[in-house]
Amino acid sequence: MTPERLSRACLVCGLPLSGALASVLSLAGVRRSSRNPNCCTRCNVHIEEGRLVELTMVFADLSSFTELTARLGAESTYEVVDNYLRAAAGVLTAHGAFIDKYIGDCVMAFFNAPVKREDHAAAAVEAARGLQLRLPALSKELGHELRASVGIATGYARVGRLGSDDVKDYTAIGDVVNQAARLQAQARAGEILVAENVYARVAGRYPGVPREVLVLKGFREPSAAYRLKADGTAGFALWLDHSPLRLPLLVAAAAAAAASLALAAREHAQRRALELKHGCVVVTPSEKRRNLLVAALSFAALLFVGMELALHSPEGAEFRRSIDLRAPGER
Ligand SMILES: [Zn+2]
Repeated sequence: MTPERLSRACLVCGLPLSGALASVLSLAGVRRSSRNPNCCTRCNVHIEEGRLVELTMVFADLSSFTELTARLGAESTYEVVDNYLRAAAGVLTAHGAFIDKYIGDCVMAFFNAPVKREDHAAAAVEAARGLQLRLPALSKELGHELRASVGIATGYARVGRLGSDDVKDYTAIGDVVNQAARLQAQARAGEILVAENVYARVAGRYPGVPREVLVLKGFREPSAAYRLKADGTAGFALWLDHSPLRLPLLVAAAAAAAASLALAAREHAQRRALELKHGCVVVTPSEKRRNLLVAALSFAALLFVGMELALHSPEGAEFRRSIDLRAPGER
């Protein structure tokens, strides 16, 4: 990371890490950590002790809750919320989330603790998208339209077990928790509202989402956020992931690529035979280049289809999860 890309203040405690005040602080022994340059040396000690962890927090709330209660009454609403929470927890944990707690009709979950994973922000967004895409089917099952609003933020939090001696809950405390909750509060039904540092890690999959500056309750500085839709703005690759046309299209692409490779191979063999028979070259250099290009593109297409099937199919997801499960500290 180049110096100008480094944070000007500690990402955990907010102490300045550059400027005049930072120089004064460094006299007191608190300066930019060399191991964790976006944090101060004091916070880095806690990070290295494993108490402060970079987390991605997810709040997933049932949008229509108040209206549901008014319309259905307590008993039926209970059923609906219970089903929603089960579904949400199921989808989130399938993506590797730790369920922190349920707050009414809202699930609070986080990624990257207690199990470490490099792609925690991307996994959180994928999980949220999985939840949004699960809801139409659940709505059909229950006979009520359910929609969720999701807020996601990445940042440092203190994780550990909190509570009385008898009841201790493993939970996370930090600005990032409040930030994710506030983002969720500003997300509309069906949306996944993510903080800027989350978007930076998933921009490749969600290109071109407009940046918004929001004032979040309890935060002095306005913060940038991005509204992701589970469908729509997600682009062709995401559309393909969930389209019933996915398999036929991939099979057609693979068949076309295989056919053009087979044709190129046959043409090549025929030409070789002619060359051997007549002892002359019967292909121009430009034809040869074109044939090579066709072969290379066909190979690339086959490779793409293979990777698409391996990485983005339910079986592929299962395989990736099985690798994740073997990560140290999982058990
Ligand atoms: Zn600090």
